[in-house]
Amino acid sequence: MAVREESAYLLDLEAGYQTRFTSVVRALPPGGAILESTLFYPTGGGQPCDQGRFRLADGSTVRVDAVESRSGTTVHRIRSRDLPRLSPGLVVEGEIDWERRYRHMRGHTGQHLLSALAFRRFGLRTERARIGGAGGSFELAGPLPGPSSREELYAQANEEFFTRPVRVSLRFVSPEELLREPGRSGTERLPQGLERIRLVEIAGADFAPCGGTHVRSTEEVGTVVDAGEVPLGGGGVRLEFRLKDPQRAAPSPIPPA
Ligand SMILES: [Zn+2]
Repeated sequence: MAVREESAYLLDLEAGYQTRFTSVVRALPPGGAILESTLFYPTGGGQPCDQGRFRLADGSTVRVDAVESRSGTTVHRIRSRDLPRLSPGLVVEGEIDWERRYRHMRGHTGQHLLSALAFRRFGLRTERARIGGAGGSFELAGPLPGPSSREELYAQANEEFFTRPVRVSLRFVSPEELLREPGRSGTERLPQGLERIRLVEIAGADFAPCGGTHVRSTEEVGTVVDAGEVPLGGGGVRLEFRLKDPQRAAPSPIPPA
């Protein structure tokens, strides 16, 4: 949620569609590499990391198996046999696996909207959410009010949002501004000391603090399918959903500048 200047996807929603970039190796901590700047998303906020590769000047590639955030710094995990091919100061071209990234963008945006509808319809806050594979899940603070609630939730989401182009955008606010307008998200879980908070906004429907990657229009999410619910200790419930492929073909990632 804190804005780190080296991660362009945090500042610009469109940057989530960019999968190639050029950077320089800054350091090689155990098992990984830190770049001067990166577009790779590290595991966090319920969203799995990107995978991909570094392309070197001679055209060969080094696989990036996983990406993690260590004390706010993005570390690209590199296999030990490949590490000797990297050195500080080396120029690399990063390439993010687009299919995996785009699936996470769709799932994450879909979860935001489903959480928003659960709050608007039933007054239930989302306590945590996970994206992964071909779908995701989110945990509501209490049970759904009736036996048809889940069906109604998914029907509204699909009819009003996932089959229509509703704009998704970023907005940056101060903690004080968010407290005046807290929306569906409790602010008590936000890290302390933030100067600016990144809100992901679905026009007319939702805004929520989030540091993940998202699609630019709800239509890109495609239809979501109800994959059941699991009761949780304490009275809450976890709703699971799957993504169906969107009607339209996935947009091509943005070529490097
Ligand atoms: Zn998000």
